[in-house]
Amino acid sequence: MIERYKLKNVTIRIKKVTKRSEQLSLLMHRFDNHICLLRRFNGTLVVAEHTNEKLVPITLNTITAASKLGEVTCLVAGSQCAKVAEEISKVQGVKKILLADNEVYKGFLPESLTPLLVAAQNQFKFTHILAGATAMGKSLIPRVAAKLDVSPVSDIIGINDTDTFVRTIYAGNAIQTVKSKDSVKLITVRGTAFEAAQVEGGSGATEQAPTVDVKNELSEFVSQELTKSDRPELTSARTVVSGGRGMKNGDNFKLLYDLADKMNAAVGASRAAVDAGFVPNDMQVGQTGKIVAPDLYIAVGISGAIQHLAGMKDSKVIVAINKDPEAPIFQVADYGLVADLFKAVPEMTDAMNK
Ligand SMILES: Cc1cc2nc3c(=O)[nH]c(=O)nc-3n(C[C@H](O)[C@H](O)[C@H](O)COP(=O)(O)OP(=O)(O)OC[C@H]3O[C@@H](n4cnc5c(N)ncnc54)[C@H](O)[C@@H]3O)c2cc1C
Repeated sequence: MIERYKLKNVTIRIKKVTKRSEQLSLLMHRFDNHICLLRRFNGTLVVAEHTNEKLVPITLNTITAASKLGEVTCLVAGSQCAKVAEEISKVQGVKKILLADNEVYKGFLPESLTPLLVAAQNQFKFTHILAGATAMGKSLIPRVAAKLDVSPVSDIIGINDTDTFVRTIYAGNAIQTVKSKDSVKLITVRGTAFEAAQVEGGSGATEQAPTVDVKNELSEFVSQELTKSDRPELTSARTVVSGGRGMKNGDNFKLLYDLADKMNAAVGASRAAVDAGFVPNDMQVGQTGKIVAPDLYIAVGISGAIQHLAGMKDSKVIVAINKDPEAPIFQVADYGLVADLFKAVPEMTDAMNK
C-alpha cells in the first residue's frame, strides 16, 4: 500500500511536474513569442560609413540589406557629423538614427567605436548589426563580434532568412550558405550585391546614442590625406576603366584617365599595377582590393587572374583589351579586343570626341 501510495505519490508528483512543465512550456512559448516580437521590434543596426560631411554610398546598400531583416536603426558616429544624421534621416527604410557626435570618434578608429557599439547593443538588443564590407567595416565588425562573443559573418551577398546568409569563398569560386545561431548577428555586406536604398522619402527620428567613456590606448588618429577626384567613386561608378601591369608605368595611366573622363568613369587597377607603384592602392580591384559591379568594366592590359576577377566579374558588361589572345580575361569578357593598348586606348578616346 505504502509502496503503491508512494508510487501513486510519485506518479502524482510526476504528473504535477508534467503539468507544471506544460504550463511552463506554454508560458515559455508565450514568452518566446514576446521575445520574437521584441526582437522584431528591436531590429537591425546599420553602422553608417561617412566622411562627417556625407554618407559613403555603400551605407545605402547596407540599409537595403538591413531592411530585409527588420526595422532599421542607423548609428552615425563621428566628429561634427550632425549633417550626416540629417542626410540619413531622409533615406527610405530608416526608422531611427543614433547620433554619437564626439571628438573621440575622429578618424573612425575601430578601437574607439567598438565600446560605443557594445553599449548600443547592450541597451537596444539588436538582432543584427551590419556594416559595409569596406576597410572600415572589415576592421570594426570582427572586433565588436569578439567583444560580444559571437561569430561575424563577412561579406554577404544574399539573405535567405534572418539567420541564413549567402557569401562567397575561395576568391568567389564557391558560394556558401551559412546559418548563424548567435543571438546577435554581426555582418559585413558586399555593397554590389544589394540595391542602394532611396535617398528621399524617409523620415527617421534622431536620438542620442549611448554615452560611453571611450579610453582608446591602442590607437591614435594622426591625420589623413584624402584623394580628391572629380571622377566617380570606384565602388559606385557605373563605368570603370582599369589598368594592369600592361600599362608599363604610372605615367601611362594618363591614357586611362583621359578615356575615363570622356565616359564619366572611375579608374581602377590590378594589384600588379598597384604593387609596381603605378597607382595608389585605393584603386585596386579584386579579392584584396575593392569589389565593383558597374554597368561597364573595361580591363586594359590585365591578364584576368582569379583574384582580380573576384573583384569585378559581377560587372554587367566586361570589355577586355589585351595583346595576348590567350589571356584568361577573355573567358569572362563580353567583348574582347586583341590589340596593343597603346594604340587601342587613344583611338577609343578619339572616337569618344567625335
Ligand atoms: C592572396 C592574393 C590576393 C590577390 N589579390 C589581388 C587583387 O585584389 N587584385 C588583383 O588584381 N590581383 C590580386 N592578386 C594578384 C593576381 O594573382 C595577379 O598577379 C594580378 O592580378 C596580375 O595583374 P595584371 O593582370 O595587371 O598583371 P599580369 O598578369 O602581368 O598581366 C598583364 C597583362 O597585360 C597584357 N599586356 C602587356 N602589354 C600589353 C599591351 N601593350 N597591350 C595590351 N595588353 C598588354 C599582357 O598580355 C598580360 O595579360 C592577388 C594575389 C594573391 C596571391
